Amino acid sequence: MATVHLIGAGPGAADLITVRGMRLLQQADAVLYDALVQPEMLAYCPQAVLIDVGKRCAKASTAQRFINKMLIDAARKYPRVVRLKGGDPMLFGRAQEELDALAEAGITAEIVPGITAALAASADAGISLTSRGLARNVLFATARVGEGEHASDWVKPVLAADTAVLYMGVKQSAAIAQALLEGGMASNTPILIVENASLPNSREWAMTLAELPQAASWELVGPAILMIGEVYRPALAQTEQRRAVA
Ligand code: SAH
Repeated sequence: MATVHLIGAGPGAADLITVRGMRLLQQADAVLYDALVQPEMLAYCPQAVLIDVGKRCAKASTAQRFINKMLIDAARKYPRVVRLKGGDPMLFGRAQEELDALAEAGITAEIVPGITAALAASADAGISLTSRGLARNVLFATARVGEGEHASDWVKPVLAADTAVLYMGVKQSAAIAQALLEGGMASNTPILIVENASLPNSREWAMTLAELPQAASWELVGPAILMIGEVYRPALAQTEQRRAVA
């Protein structure tokens, strides 16, 4: 039976996968990939059977349980199976559910890390997540709660963090802004939104917390991440300067 490799594809750019991940793709018999995985990355494995388990593109979403089953079926059928996931598999990637399902089926799994969206977005923006004397901790969080899950209190940790990165949040910008303002965050707190980090069509916007609700109505074409903290103050000042000139 196969060893399944859970591989982080990185944030999007085809050359931001690790060398190890790319080599395993080149040798794979079957590759199950997510919606966030760019088509260019699949050029590394023309020999493989490609199985799209993307939750975005499918009209009725491919339920996680079904993905787990497809993964197990593939591992029983092919000697080298890759599960390719956007960013890093261990961060908001539901890797644990897949690892547990594989373990239960007696299938060995190995993980190859990837570059997570927060790091790619910071690279694009040219702004460090940490900064001497200003930001000494970073929070990775999401305000999204899945169906049937308990509501999570993401507000308190975001308020306490020097820099906070919210995954999967831009569509809910209005609710996020309201919750943070109610929690006591200053309305002029700087926010940076990065869409399509690492890709040629990447876009960035700096704004204050008070302005954040407007982001909810933007027509975004790709995944976007929301970053909050004083490290984004200079980016905000630049945006305000540009607005004053325009
Ligand atoms: N495991 C992934 C995250 C999956 S959750 C990782 O480590 O990056 C999906 C969320 O990740 C998206 O809603 C978005 O908030 C963020 N994301 C993924 N790729 C991104 C990109 N290229 N640019 C900006 N945000 C991205």
